[in-house]
Amino acid sequence: MKYAYYPGCSLERSAASYHTSTMAVAGRLGLVFQEIDDWNCCGATEYFAINLLPAYALVARNLALVPNDLTELTAPCSACYVNLKKTDKYMGKYPDLATQVNQALVAGGLHYDPGRLQVRHLLDVIVNDVGYQKVAEQVVKPLSGLRVAPYYGCLVVRPGNGFDNPEHPTSMDRLLRVLGAEVVDYPLKAQCCGGHMTQISADVAYELIRRLLHNAAEYNADLIACVRPMCQLNLDAYQSNVNRHFGTDYHTPILYFTQLMALAFGMSAKEAGLGSEIVSAHVALSKIGVEMPKQEKGKPRKRPNKQALPMPTMPDEEA
Ligand code: SF4
Ligand code: SF4
Repeated sequence: MKYAYYPGCSLERSAASYHTSTMAVAGRLGLVFQEIDDWNCCGATEYFAINLLPAYALVARNLALVPNDLTELTAPCSACYVNLKKTDKYMGKYPDLATQVNQALVAGGLHYDPGRLQVRHLLDVIVNDVGYQKVAEQVVKPLSGLRVAPYYGCLVVRPGNGFDNPEHPTSMDRLLRVLGAEVVDYPLKAQCCGGHMTQISADVAYELIRRLLHNAAEYNADLIACVRPMCQLNLDAYQSNVNRHFGTDYHTPILYFTQLMALAFGMSAKEAGLGSEIVSAHVALSKIGVEMPKQEKGKPRKRPNKQALPMPTMPDEEA
C-alpha cells in the first residue's frame, strides 16, 4: 500500500507529534508514505478568501508534484486534505479553471490532469484500506480503561467526503474501540472549534472551545482524540485561557488518534510523539501504564498570550 504523502506545514512544527506517530504506525501497518518532493504550504482557507486562482494554483502545484507512478495521495491534516480534494474536484468540474491553473503551473514546468489522483485523509486510509482487522492484529497493549472522546472537528467528513457520515461520524470511534479504549459518547464530535476565531474574537472562540471541553467532561473522558493539527492546537493551547475566562478547571489532554494507535501497538511514549502537549497527558495515560518522557513531564509548550491577541496569522495555523 503505497501513497504519496502530503504532511502540510503544521506537521513540521506545532504538530510534529502527529507526523512522528503517523510514520510509526504506518510502518507497522505496511503503509508506505512517499513524501511529495518540494511540496509547498497549501495556504489554508485564507488564500481562497483573497484570490481564487492563485489559491487553486498553490494547491494544484502539490498535486502536480506527485510522481506519475502514484495514484493515491494522503494527508493527515483535515484542511490540507479538503484543499487538495477540492482543487482536484473543481479543476475537473470547471475546465476553464483547470486551464488557468495549468497555465500558472507551466511556469514551474508542471501540469496536473484532474482526476489523476485519489485524495484521501489519513483516517480514511487506515480504517478502509488497512482495515480494523489488521489494526487489531497489531494491538499488544490495549488501551483498557482509557475513556476517549473522539473529536473529528468540522472538516474531515464535510462536505460529504464519502468515507464517513458528515453529521455523525463513527470511523474513529470504531478504530479507538479496536485499540481497546472506552469510547465515550461525544455529541459535539463534529462541531466547529472556531478555527482562527481565537485571532478574531477571543470571547467567541473560547465559548466554542469551552463547549467541546465541557461535553467531553460531561462524559468523563480522560482525553480527546483528534485528526487535525488545528483542532489539537485550539483545544490544547487555549485550554488555560478558557479556564481563566470562564473560571473553569478543565484539564483534558488532546492527542492525535495516531498517538493512541502507537501506544496500543506497544510503542513508547517517545515513539508516539508524546511530551509536547501543553495540557499534560501524564495523569490520563498513567491509567494505562504509560511512562511519559522524563525530560518533557510537566514542561509546558509556549502558550498563547491573551494580552497579545490578535496575533499575526502563522502559516501553519490554518482556519
Ligand atoms: S496551511 Fe494548514 S492546511 Fe495548508 S498545508 Fe499548512 S497545515 Fe495544511
Ligand atoms: S480546527 Fe476547528 S475549524 Fe478546523 S476542522 Fe477543527 S473544528 Fe473545524
